[in-house]
Amino acid sequence: MTISVVGHSNPDTDSVTSAIALAALMNAQGQDAKATMQSSADDLNPESKMVLDRFGMAAPEMIDDAAGKQIALVDFSDIAQGPANLSDAEVVAIVDHHKIGDVTTNNPILFRAEPVGCTGTVLNKMFKEAGVAIPKDVAGGMLAAILSDTVNFKSPTCTEADKAAVAELKGVAGVEDTEELFMDMLKAKSSVDGVPAKDLLFRDYKDFDMNGNKVGIGQLELATLDQVADIRADLMGAMEEVKADGRHSVLLMLTDVVKEGTDLVVLSDDPALVEKAFGGKLENSSMWVEGMMSRKKQTVPNLQNAFGC
Ligand code: MG
Ligand code: MG
Ligand code: MG
Repeated sequence: MTISVVGHSNPDTDSVTSAIALAALMNAQGQDAKATMQSSADDLNPESKMVLDRFGMAAPEMIDDAAGKQIALVDFSDIAQGPANLSDAEVVAIVDHHKIGDVTTNNPILFRAEPVGCTGTVLNKMFKEAGVAIPKDVAGGMLAAILSDTVNFKSPTCTEADKAAVAELKGVAGVEDTEELFMDMLKAKSSVDGVPAKDLLFRDYKDFDMNGNKVGIGQLELATLDQVADIRADLMGAMEEVKADGRHSVLLMLTDVVKEGTDLVVLSDDPALVEKAFGGKLENSSMWVEGMMSRKKQTVPNLQNAFGC
């Protein structure tokens, strides 16, 4: 059976390019694997589209049902972030850089998770350990994923291992200027022109269970907050709609990548709890949080503490 390698739902560049990279590594080692993603090629986020395009890689095929399949997970291990019926699939490998989720297996599997900034960094090590040369296009995708996940090394999730991986991969991929690549990705990613507010909210969005409360957190990484000045009301309208669907809180991180901080927009049954979590005061449902760049490392843990998780 062909192993379907898949990243999390609402795929980002890491979950797409890591699926491609792990499938390539498995194939080089004699396993039958193919990259898949939880999105159609058309619906893929603009940054990932641009990265696939730039390095000449085909978009992985879409997977919407995992039942009966052999699956390898990249960039996640939470059932909720997987394709439908993941519990009825056989998970045969996991490569990740997040907290360990709730996927369980009946057999021993390859499980590799490291506290680094990107799954691409873990995969770079795995290629080296296996003595397998990384194809040029795949190296470009992995490089782009690391720049994306670490926000060009500025995210607190970034480690020395990520910087070392970029230094190695840029040579393989033939990329001279990673700053330029990052700015091209940022421009593609942060383009909001003509995109419906709800699509923007869901561009990089995850739901979390916090002590029995459903909390949704979206993040838009922007070159400047001016990009969303005219659509703030529309974004809040979309947040209200999503919150009305059984959520305690919906947060939207409007992250200014250049200023290195986040305008945190909050709709919550308990705004005071969110204010306490980030030590700020909401005005018109938002507050500036200096230095906030990472949902995983800053927003989620602070909220979990406030919710008493
Ligand atoms: Mg990811
Ligand atoms: Mg990642
Ligand atoms: Mg991400």
